[in-house]
Amino acid sequence: MKFGGTSVADAEAMGRLIDIVRAESALTGPPVVVVSAMSKVTDQLLTMATKAAAGDRGVMAAGVDDVLKRHLAAIETLVGDPATRAAVTTTVTAEFEELRAMLTALAILREASPRSLDTVAAAGELLSSRVVTAALTSAGIDAVWIDARCAIVTDDQYMGASPLTGETHAALAREVAPHLAAGRVPVLGGFVGATVSGATTTLGRGGSDYSAAIVGEGISASEIQIWTDVDGMLTADPRIVASPMVVSHLSFGEASELAYFGAKVLHPSTILPAVAADIPVKILNSRRPAAAGTLITARPPANDRPIVALACKRNITVVEVTSTRMLMAHGFLRRLFEVFERFRTSVDVVTTSEVSVSVTIDDSRRLKEIVAALSEFAEVNVAPDMALLCAVGENLRSDPAFAIRMLAGLDGVPLRMVSQAASRRNVTVVMRDADVATAMSRLHDAWFAAKTGSSVGATR
Ligand code: ADP
Ligand code: ASP
Ligand code: MG
Repeated sequence: MKFGGTSVADAEAMGRLIDIVRAESALTGPPVVVVSAMSKVTDQLLTMATKAAAGDRGVMAAGVDDVLKRHLAAIETLVGDPATRAAVTTTVTAEFEELRAMLTALAILREASPRSLDTVAAAGELLSSRVVTAALTSAGIDAVWIDARCAIVTDDQYMGASPLTGETHAALAREVAPHLAAGRVPVLGGFVGATVSGATTTLGRGGSDYSAAIVGEGISASEIQIWTDVDGMLTADPRIVASPMVVSHLSFGEASELAYFGAKVLHPSTILPAVAADIPVKILNSRRPAAAGTLITARPPANDRPIVALACKRNITVVEVTSTRMLMAHGFLRRLFEVFERFRTSVDVVTTSEVSVSVTIDDSRRLKEIVAALSEFAEVNVAPDMALLCAVGENLRSDPAFAIRMLAGLDGVPLRMVSQAASRRNVTVVMRDADVATAMSRLHDAWFAAKTGSSVGATR
């Protein structure tokens, strides 16, 4: 059971978590609980680290006090048992002293390498998981804190590490499984891991979902539950469309595509471990635990909708590479993609014409170097402030006219790229970011509004 930032935001949210875990324990036995940092804490920690590295110690001290206060307030409200309260207060205060020392070190060294940033960012989950463990214990649930750095073993790609499957499964069997067997609820911070040699790593922003799925696979869980602040996977981004509907069932493939193309409710890698072990994934609302949520499985029941949902990724960059001389020559695409590989930047959408290749990238931190390297053998044009909009559904395979209807629905919106890949599970278009809200709303109105069969309000 993974609880996101808003689901552990304060004592009230953690109180709901306790009720949900208690109910699940009674129903199916002790679950493993994976928690995110309290909401906004990861952002605050990363800002403090960056400021510290720039020599700004004032902001850093105030920031640490603010985050510490939130943790102590939650302890104050939830941990009634005096012995448990004293123990967790001591531990949390000591962790904060360590955090302060780390930030001071960054200020002295004037550096914030990905490795240092990971050690600072990991504090959010390490702390929230301590508080949640104590809160569960105080509520009479036999919970035990697990150090995620001993349970999730990763490579050394700081800020975006990948789990080493064999090592992680062995660690989970050692650190987590015995507690479950003894009827205890293991609680660990998501997002965080460590290399074989013990250096702290993180799985990338939003990575707690991924942690939960890795643990689920490792312990052969019967289900992976993602508890968040919405009723499930919605038919469109709720930050754009006013009342999207809940999608009751998704296939693993559909969920992966939606997560990959911007549905933030699920980290894009979450589905990989679930598929590997064929474990159903549920997305559930911690504010409305009785709502049915979204169930993601290998073979969901058939439905007659043309698509299951829309997703979008905003503020992306289109890189257009043109070469009249070389495009048709073999080896050109290898050379082109090697540049993106060299600068560790993943490409989301690709389209080609005879003389040009267009790609989209989400992470533009290395853009300057990428453009310089591409310019050695081709003409390069960069378009910032773009967005991709993606329609997803298994039914697209058997609907040859879908792309035509989608493009007709976008009449008047200038499109930069259009793509339908081999999975035939999605059609993706790229446009100016300024146009994407209108475009998504228009398509959502056409396919979902005024249709019946919404699962909003359905209960478990
Ligand atoms: P958590 O902290 O629980 O991990 P996130 O903020 O990472 O939560 O993800 C949940 C948010 O994802 C929602 O509040 C919503 O704004 C956003 N979101 C974007 N697209 C979708 C979608 N298609 N369905 C549901 N939520 C979405
Ligand atoms: N706390 C981390 C983040 O904000 C991980 C997560 O919440 O999933 O990115
Ligand atoms: Mg998230």
